[in-house]
Amino acid sequence: MINFDYVRPTTKKAAFDAASKNTAAKFIAGGTNLTDLMKRGVENTEKIIDINRLPLNKITVENSVVRIGALVLNSVLSEDPLITQKFPLLSQALKAGASPQLRNMATVGGNMMQRTRCSYFYDTTMPCNKRMPGTGCAAIGGHNRMHAIFGASSSCIAVHPSDMCIALAALDAEVILESNKGERRMAFLDFHRLPGNTPALDNNLQKAELITGITLANNGLFSKHSAYVKLRDRSSYAFALISVAAGLELDGNTIKQVRLAMGGVAHKPWRLTTAEKYLVGKPITVNHFEAAAALAMKDAKGYGENNFKLKLAPAAIIEALQKAASTS
Ligand code: SF4
Repeated sequence: MINFDYVRPTTKKAAFDAASKNTAAKFIAGGTNLTDLMKRGVENTEKIIDINRLPLNKITVENSVVRIGALVLNSVLSEDPLITQKFPLLSQALKAGASPQLRNMATVGGNMMQRTRCSYFYDTTMPCNKRMPGTGCAAIGGHNRMHAIFGASSSCIAVHPSDMCIALAALDAEVILESNKGERRMAFLDFHRLPGNTPALDNNLQKAELITGITLANNGLFSKHSAYVKLRDRSSYAFALISVAAGLELDGNTIKQVRLAMGGVAHKPWRLTTAEKYLVGKPITVNHFEAAAALAMKDAKGYGENNFKLKLAPAAIIEALQKAASTS
């Protein structure tokens, strides 16, 4: 049994004050990942700051920008009329995640903060540089079927587990971060990190800083043509082996704009910018989708058990592009 302090502030200022007094404190909202980690002894948190009473559970539109509060539930966001009409890619990705019960508890901010599901990370008897820096990585040379094929390092080959974040990376979202020092904003793609030599750090959040929301341009750019393809071991309540978020803006059969991001392949949502550049101005043909997928896979590397992803990933990219092109 690990003892920890628990506070439940009702204002952002009180939450930031509590966090700055103890920078090892953890914010909690739905608790769908943090409580698991605490029960297993992976997280030994001294202080929990419950943010559920903060006014961060609204979806608002201001000056052509959609602002989604960090406490909006995944289930609420996935069914919101504005989101289903203007951002169906985000709605699809949310519905592909976890189970209905978990989506009813999980928040937008918590979804972004969830940690890898690498089994060695959760097993405190095994070496893991992410859980305990300097102990090694049991997944390299071990069971790594779920692990990364892009952007990994000799310290860690874990993948980021979220579906929602893959869609937000494709949609060029922005993250709002707040603390006692004020507010700062960050491109969603810059929020999560690659492992490098510091795999214990999942993201670029500073100490005592809180995600308070995300924003999206309210332009409905990919509302007509988008698809989220998630390939997994069973059809629900499973993490992605590979997922692809694809958004297309078409002029007839020609691609005017495209966004592609992958999940289940890297320590962060993985944007396929080379493939995107290739596709702009091209007609929507399978040949061009295949060429784009080949470009996207250029730097991919398997680690043994996950070598099958080298074939599964390009197939998923092609499927997502075909689905996006055919939706309207
Ligand atoms: Fe730990 Fe990362 Fe290696 Fe998994 S892949 S054992 S999380 S260091």
